[in-house]
Amino acid sequence: METEVFTAWFEEAARLVRLDRDRLTELDAAIGDADHGVNLDRGLTEVCKALADAPPESPSQVLTTAGTTLIRRVGGASGPLYGSVFRQLGKALETPVTLAGFSAAFEEGVVAVERLGKAALGDKTMVDALAPASRALALAVRDGASVREAFDQAARAAEEGAKATIPMQARKGRASYLGERSIGHEDPGAASAALFMAALAAVVE
Ligand code: ADP
Ligand code: MG
Repeated sequence: METEVFTAWFEEAARLVRLDRDRLTELDAAIGDADHGVNLDRGLTEVCKALADAPPESPSQVLTTAGTTLIRRVGGASGPLYGSVFRQLGKALETPVTLAGFSAAFEEGVVAVERLGKAALGDKTMVDALAPASRALALAVRDGASVREAFDQAARAAEEGAKATIPMQARKGRASYLGERSIGHEDPGAASAALFMAALAAVVE
């Protein structure tokens, strides 16, 4: 996987988040403060600008630039959390990037967000989309899947993980203040995490 694929990943993520900005914001309106779509749209627009202004020379650099920009430019919980995923992924990624290498580094990225957010599977956060995606990637590597199949499976797992947050009660973040009233709504961060994985599947096609 070349540097261009990683740049394209964030461009596609920015496009998908822009298209779904209102849905993400509505999800956050139900169980948060109605800023997730706007936050992420702004952050990813800045990421694309940063990547265009100083084109990175390696996949790691793309991820470091993206992570750092998201931490700086996205207000709210999700900026630092996504920032930590991408910065850790960038740090752990060895060049040339293979599917197995990406999978292992992605797992480290997920661990970083679990640590920072003190969130585990079932807490109704982005972890509920990211962790199943990571697991699907690892299984795809084990089974000798192609890059395309692996990212398709990861995207599907993230989407299913996001939908699975609907019946959950939030235990982390703003939504947790609602207690039982958080039940019945999809977590906005899990929904946006599924968009990130969909974007990756789209650019490796
Ligand atoms: P804020 O909650 O500060 O308004 P956003 O609306 O941008 O931030 O993002 C909210 C999303 O961040 C949630 O839907 C959830 O997925 C994620 N999130 C919030 N707190 C945590 C946490 N402690 N660990 C993991 N993810 C979290
Ligand atoms: Mg919010």
